[in-house]
Amino acid sequence: MNPEENKIQAKKIVVAIDGHSSCGKSTIARDLAKAVNYKYIDSGAMYRAVTLYCIENGLFEGNRLDEETLKEKIQQIHITFKHNQTTGKSDTFLGDRNIEKEIRSMAVAEKVSPVAAVGFVRQALVRQQQAMGIDKGIVMDGRDIGTIVFPDAELKIFVTARPEIRAKRRQAELSAKGETITIEEVLRNLETRDLIDSTRKDGPLRKADDAITFDNSDMTIEEQNRRMQDIFKQYATY
Ligand code: C5P
Repeated sequence: MNPEENKIQAKKIVVAIDGHSSCGKSTIARDLAKAVNYKYIDSGAMYRAVTLYCIENGLFEGNRLDEETLKEKIQQIHITFKHNQTTGKSDTFLGDRNIEKEIRSMAVAEKVSPVAAVGFVRQALVRQQQAMGIDKGIVMDGRDIGTIVFPDAELKIFVTARPEIRAKRRQAELSAKGETITIEEVLRNLETRDLIDSTRKDGPLRKADDAITFDNSDMTIEEQNRRMQDIFKQYATY
C-alpha cells in the first residue's frame, strides 16, 4: 500500500486472523501489519513461550504437565516482543532472554497444544492480548482471536490451506532452521495440534460467524498480500 493510501486510513481497526496450524497466518498478518503500519502480534508465540518455560523448568514428566506448579508460576512468566533490526521481524522474549529460535523447534510444537488447552493459561494470555489491542491499529493472529480475544474486531479472517501444502511449508521452515524432519512427522504434528486446538473447552479453534474464509493453498505470497490489502481497504477506510 503506498503512503497516500495509508493516509486515508482515518480510523484504526482491529484485524483478527485465525486458522489451522501452518497455513501462513503469521506471514499474512505480519505483511499486512507492515503494509498498513499497524502493530503485529503473534499470539501463538506467547503459547509457545509458556510451553518452553514448562519444558525448561521441568514441568513436564513425559507428556504429563504439572498444572499445579504452572498455576503458581503463570503470573511470573513475562512475555514481550521486540523488533529485530536485522531480520525486520519481531522477536519473542521470555523475561530478558530472546527465545525466538527455541520456540519454533519441534520439541515446543509437540507440547504446545496441551499447554494452550489449560484454562488459566488462556485466561492469562488472552488478558494480555486484549490489553495490547486497546488502542486498535493491530493485526493479531492465532486460533481464538476473532472469537474470544477480539470478538468485536472490525475485520476477521479465517485462513486455511490444504494439509499437504501446510506440511510442506512447515517442513521448509524447519529445514531452513536446520531441523530435518519428514513430511509425515510434520503432518502428524499439524493434525494432532489442530485436533486438540479444535476440541478443547476454552477458546477452541473455530471460524467466527462473521469471518472471511481465505484459502491460500494456490497463492503466491505476493498475491496473498495483494488480496489481503484489498480486503483491508474495504474495512478500514471510512
Ligand atoms: O500459531 P502457532 O502454530 O505458532 O501456535 C502454536 C500453538 O499455540 C497452536 O497449535 C495452539 O495450540 C496454540 N494457540 C492457541 N491460541 C492462539 C494461538 C496459538 O491456542 N490464539
